[in-house]
Amino acid sequence: MAVNMSNDRLRPETIAAHSLKSIDDATGAVVPPLYLSTTYARDENYKPKLKENYVRNGNPTLWHAENALAALEGGEEALLFSSGMAAITTLFETIAPGARIVAPTVMYYGTRDWLQRLESLGRIKLSLFDPAVPAALDRALSTPAEIIWIETPLNPTWDVIDIEAAAKAAHATGAILAVDATATAAVTTRPLALGADIVFHSVTKYLNGHSDVLGGVLITGKTDNRWKQIATLRTKIGMPLGPFDCWLLTRGVRTVFVRYRQASVNARARAPGAGGAMVTQVEEAPTAGAGTAHQCLAYEGKGGFDEAQRLCTGLKLIIPATSLGGVESLAEHRKAIEGPQSPVPDNLVRFSIGIENADDLIADIEQALERI
Ligand code: PLP
Repeated sequence: MAVNMSNDRLRPETIAAHSLKSIDDATGAVVPPLYLSTTYARDENYKPKLKENYVRNGNPTLWHAENALAALEGGEEALLFSSGMAAITTLFETIAPGARIVAPTVMYYGTRDWLQRLESLGRIKLSLFDPAVPAALDRALSTPAEIIWIETPLNPTWDVIDIEAAAKAAHATGAILAVDATATAAVTTRPLALGADIVFHSVTKYLNGHSDVLGGVLITGKTDNRWKQIATLRTKIGMPLGPFDCWLLTRGVRTVFVRYRQASVNARARAPGAGGAMVTQVEEAPTAGAGTAHQCLAYEGKGGFDEAQRLCTGLKLIIPATSLGGVESLAEHRKAIEGPQSPVPDNLVRFSIGIENADDLIADIEQALERI
């Protein structure tokens, strides 16, 4: 069978595995080279060989990773930043002074903190809507806004927001829709195809997947003025992801589908104790237009704050640590991290399930539940 090798015809698994197949002309190497150089020499006519000749402005290893991520999300361009928060805060920098941002009440707490900070400084107006209440977003949009920011599934409750409906609501009022899709890692959900204008991922999580890179990416459906402003800010403030991290990230992306799927299989094989004596609710991010993300679980125990923390400290294999999306399983008591003002339930333990043997994970959760 003839294979159409252009990225718009290849399936996402193939795009990820090849991450822009690049066979080095000089050596035949099948892995893209790592260019660590911070500066690039000019030629005899004093012309740079590449479109940029200083690492902060751009470099071949950064471009390779960005082009691979743009292809994976079906976007026009991607910009990689030195952290997820660097990418998010740069997007918010582009808003007109005093304009409105609409966002859900539950979301990654770092993003919520930053939005509330911008609001308290008088830089933006902020409307938060309850994602569990139908039509709450439409009601929030009765006052004009510039950016709708949603996260789906929502960290850490894993509720889903309908991206297509949010895009329609945003566009009907002249706003753009930006989606934090960190938890779906371009495996189950493609927000741009569902109408979003900008997609964000903390690549620290599933896309890199090995708990050894901090980074963030914005991917756009079209390179408009806002996008150019984002690119300029990244260069001027100095926030591109470093070359070595870009190289590690490209390597991580190549296995994202198999890692994500194995983590999902493991998470579905959860401990029989869940739903039994100690746990009243186990929330998998449900199937919806937005896709599925079974690999993160929110355990809501029958006890409160203390019992939830004892569940974390009683684990022997699963690591009590923050973050998600790595090959190793982690558990975290979110209320202890986010503080008393957070809307997250006191008894919620967030599990990021990895790719270990599921029986080992289940045995660990069961013994920890018994010891509470
Ligand atoms: N968005 C989500 C959903 C996250 O979980 C995180 C980090 O946990 C971030 C954004 C921030 O990303 P980073 O830690 O890479 O700055």
